[in-house]
Amino acid sequence: MRVEGRKLALVGLEPAELTHLVGTLPGAKPFTPAQIYAWLYSKRARSFAAMSNLTLPMRRELERMFEIGLPTLENLSCSTDGTRKYLFKMTDGELIESVWIPEPGRNTMCLSTQVGCRMGCRFCATGLMGLKRNLAGGEIVGQALCVLDDIGYRDRRVNVVFMGMGEGLDNYENVMKAFRLLTDPDGIAISSRRITLSTVGLVPGIERLATERRAPKLAISLNSPFDHERSDIMPVNRKYTIASLMDAVAGFMSAQHAGKRIRLNERVTFEYVLLKGVNDTPAHARELIRIVRRVPAKLNLLAFNPTPSLPFERPDEPWIESFKQILLDADVPVSFRRSRGRDIGAACGQLVTAHRSQPGQKRHDEPPLTPVRVATKPAGVRGIQEPSG
Ligand code: SF4
Repeated sequence: MRVEGRKLALVGLEPAELTHLVGTLPGAKPFTPAQIYAWLYSKRARSFAAMSNLTLPMRRELERMFEIGLPTLENLSCSTDGTRKYLFKMTDGELIESVWIPEPGRNTMCLSTQVGCRMGCRFCATGLMGLKRNLAGGEIVGQALCVLDDIGYRDRRVNVVFMGMGEGLDNYENVMKAFRLLTDPDGIAISSRRITLSTVGLVPGIERLATERRAPKLAISLNSPFDHERSDIMPVNRKYTIASLMDAVAGFMSAQHAGKRIRLNERVTFEYVLLKGVNDTPAHARELIRIVRRVPAKLNLLAFNPTPSLPFERPDEPWIESFKQILLDADVPVSFRRSRGRDIGAACGQLVTAHRSQPGQKRHDEPPLTPVRVATKPAGVRGIQEPSG
């Protein structure tokens, strides 16, 4: 985002944009934009002075005209389980959160896509904030660069989930720009198969995603198999019913398979937050099974983490167990996950709301979550790995 009086940020620019901007600077060679691009995203230089293969006059000119443009770290909380939660301040002063979730054999970054959110899910504190603004592509990818810098992480085998603050499909262009930058082999070079976009089910966005040549994997925050109940806890369902959502998901998977963009055994993730007395009965489990069977699906099940400002409770353990067992008995791939970083309030939105002294919890109720148990039925179905919000 451009703020008056500040130089233009280079992080967030794609190769053609960078060429347009710096290719005509005095002394620029045809390869200069590619050099700068590599410094920004691949070699991760954090000053123009560090771009050692550029001439000194070029480095001075860049310094005069531009800034690298990464978010400012406002606060960092480190959990005993290794989870790191970042509170970033944008150039206009708005605050967002990102999370680093280390696990044996895999590491995941959870990124925000908006400041606040207008979807109004009743179990989510970010929803209580309302939407302040979309994040620019550079602000989304900038979170990833800052987190990787902090960790000192240079391995490209890292997972990215768009499930921090905000609804990714409500900020489609910027999220896809961030996706392209994150996956560009000449830049950050994370595999597109390691990137997941979580959505409450904005049908036009899913349909549009199906037309993309390359797209992130899809996770659907479902939370009830019944329209009237889902509409109550997730207002988006009043506009896009479960049937229309499943049509769009089926279309997305068909398009992905037709374009050979995903493996044949790829599955859509459905996230389900168990809310006591709301969506945790055997009838819910049975209807959930019926719905998700329409597409290759896996279920991420989690129990609500109670927060004073939100009118829900965590189901009792026997109810959770019996819900899980019904899914397992039906041979639906399911994982049940525990939250990470509870000691640092790693639920998305908690840091921002605490910073602003507002009540709240976060997105999709729990956020950075990690699987503790994976059931794989039928044989050959891989366990669910990615966290979801
Ligand atoms: S759960 Fe996600 S989509 Fe719903 S209000 Fe929270 S951030 Fe927005």
